[in-house]
Amino acid sequence: MSLLIRVALDVPLPQLFDYRCSDAAAVVGARVLVPFGRRRMIGVIVERPQLSDVAENKLKLAQRVLDREALLDHDTLRLLHFAAEYYAYPLGAVVMTALPAALRRVPKRDPPPQGWTLSPEGQTVSADQLPPRAYAQQRLLELLRTSGTLAHAEATATPALRKALRAFCDAGWVITCEKTNPAAPAAAAIKADAAPALNAEQSAAVTETIAAFGRFQPLLLRGLTGSGKTEVYLHAAAAALEQGLQVLLLVPEIALTPQLEILVRARFPGIGLATLHSNLAEGERAQRWQAAREGRARIVLGTRLSVFVPLPQLGLIVVDEEHDGSFKQGEGFRYSARDLAVVRASQRGIPVLLGSATPSLESWRNATEGRYRLLELRNRINAAPPRIDYIDLRQQKSEDGLSAPLLAALSQRLAAGEQSLVFINRRGYAPVLTCGSCGWMSDCPRCSARLVLHLRERRLRCHHCGHDRAVPTTCPDCGDADLAPLGQGTQRVEAALVQRFPKARILRIDRDSTRAKQAWTEMRDRIQERDVDILVGTQILAKGHDFPHLNLVGILNADSMLYSSDFRAAERLYALLTQVAGRAGRGATRGQVLVQTQFPDHPLYQALQAQDFAAYAQAQLDERRSAGFPPYVHQALLRAEAAKIDTALDFLAAATRAATPHADGITLYDPVPAGMMRRAGRERAQLLVQCTSRARLREFLGHWQQALAASSTRARWALDVDPQDF
Ligand code: ADP
Ligand code: ZN
Ligand code: ZN
Repeated sequence: MSLLIRVALDVPLPQLFDYRCSDAAAVVGARVLVPFGRRRMIGVIVERPQLSDVAENKLKLAQRVLDREALLDHDTLRLLHFAAEYYAYPLGAVVMTALPAALRRVPKRDPPPQGWTLSPEGQTVSADQLPPRAYAQQRLLELLRTSGTLAHAEATATPALRKALRAFCDAGWVITCEKTNPAAPAAAAIKADAAPALNAEQSAAVTETIAAFGRFQPLLLRGLTGSGKTEVYLHAAAAALEQGLQVLLLVPEIALTPQLEILVRARFPGIGLATLHSNLAEGERAQRWQAAREGRARIVLGTRLSVFVPLPQLGLIVVDEEHDGSFKQGEGFRYSARDLAVVRASQRGIPVLLGSATPSLESWRNATEGRYRLLELRNRINAAPPRIDYIDLRQQKSEDGLSAPLLAALSQRLAAGEQSLVFINRRGYAPVLTCGSCGWMSDCPRCSARLVLHLRERRLRCHHCGHDRAVPTTCPDCGDADLAPLGQGTQRVEAALVQRFPKARILRIDRDSTRAKQAWTEMRDRIQERDVDILVGTQILAKGHDFPHLNLVGILNADSMLYSSDFRAAERLYALLTQVAGRAGRGATRGQVLVQTQFPDHPLYQALQAQDFAAYAQAQLDERRSAGFPPYVHQALLRAEAAKIDTALDFLAAATRAATPHADGITLYDPVPAGMMRRAGRERAQLLVQCTSRARLREFLGHWQQALAASSTRARWALDVDPQDF
């Protein structure tokens, strides 16, 4: 007897595939190995239909069901279904994205056992009976001891563990078992003494969050940098843990903010914590994912992909720095983890807490119109907000990008033994190398972009495609030796500061200087220990770091971000400058922020100085409303790329024709070359569609996606719903 299963496969087709299956235990959410074309692939069973559109005798037989229980539970599948439909992306690919890579791989041998447990003999083994330095064996023993049974995937998550497991098998210390029992959730052990007593605004925010447990409620926590948002998250999390709920804490980037992990671990000792980010080894990732799915991890701290982790007792979702662009995936399945966090909370009927000093205008609008509950922290914990002043570059000369008043302020802080930060949003020495006699510029041969001069490494590098070449000694066009760097980057500012302040300890912090593992951790320690006087850095430094001795922030090239064709540029700049300014004066001394600019009267700078986010956001929203931009309209972008721009544009023209029959109420703009037309040797174009009704846009995209999938073209294309970059 065989039954029917409907399977999601990671193929670029917007459909599911039916198979016959002889394993009666095939459950929805389990992985299954199936023949596909001439290959074998892993898929996930998403349905057990009664009937198939395919004739019974044409249906292929699934080879093997790989899991005895659902890997993706009902809630997770529901979220994935929503995401596939909303982002007009093939369900199979979406479902497979949610699985850790290690679980997507076709197994080579026969089905592995379900799980492992210590044999009676194994239970008598103690760690010191193991060979010295057999760390994996010690680890395995401990894992088996603490969790009783271990899923096979976990017991074999790394090569070292696999080897250890073989050794245990040979010694007869382990036996296979049918099913892993998730360990009972440990009762929340909260170190009350480590948590500061909350102030009144914090308490109110925590109380409101807790009051929303058990029902859908988005909460927007707006608080200045240093106003204690993190404490609100931790207290709300503590309450959820005490009620036996799991907590999902989403952050934009983990690699650069290990403090939060340390903080969570210290605050909740003995509570299962799984941190998930892209720098994990595959096996490690799968292991932590399983711990979350089985309920052993009570807190999941992770970047955007974690929004899909199955969490059987999920009771609270927190999204820190909710405005951050890294919550939106930039390619392939272009989902927003922030938005899906809200959807997930709504499907599950739980609260979602979004925090930021500068909420996205989308969230802010939802809060002001009453759809989200607004919670505000208006005061910094220990300090007044920093004072922001402008240095008018029309009146002040600057050398190497540094004006006299900024240099004077730096030298004052230096004399007082205080730290300063010079912020410049560009790494490298100079953004371009030019020839003084013929005007040659260091263009990237593969992109519409300049090669950036990295003087220290003596290379010219493209920050978009990675193209890299030696610095020429003479002009490639005219042969003249008069080559000069134009503009400033972190390396050049660092060099200028070293020259001005030869005794100062200067540290440059950008993606280049923090590339090595641990580099950033060491730098942070040096800053904390006051082993540094002046920091020169990019936005890496803007995110959530607490440097108590940093009192002056100088901002160099903000103007370059002021005028841009992207309607979100102002919103982003305001957020970035607020974040950078927020680094100043977190300790006892009031912070000072000096912004060098040609346009001190620009409304954005004025609003920043007033530090009145609500007024600024309202003005922005009014502008968006009258100009017909999001959040008052909903957008999707059809992106296309090809070797030649014409191929991409032709495809988009055909796409416009295919759209027309379904486009009632939809605005279709003309296809245009992308903001950055060439990238990594490919030429790119895009077509914007827009609608005031979200539901109408979704309906349209459904039709359009199918029409596009059926068309044939040499262009590579993708739909981007709620696009963030143009
Ligand atoms: P944010 O996340 O809003 O930038 P943090 O939560 O990092 O702010 O808080 C800034 C600093 O203030 C941290 O060092 C934190 O430990 C401390 N802090 C937060 N809340 C309190 C409180 N109620 N009492 C004393 N210190 C606090
Ligand atoms: Zn030249
Ligand atoms: Zn390039």
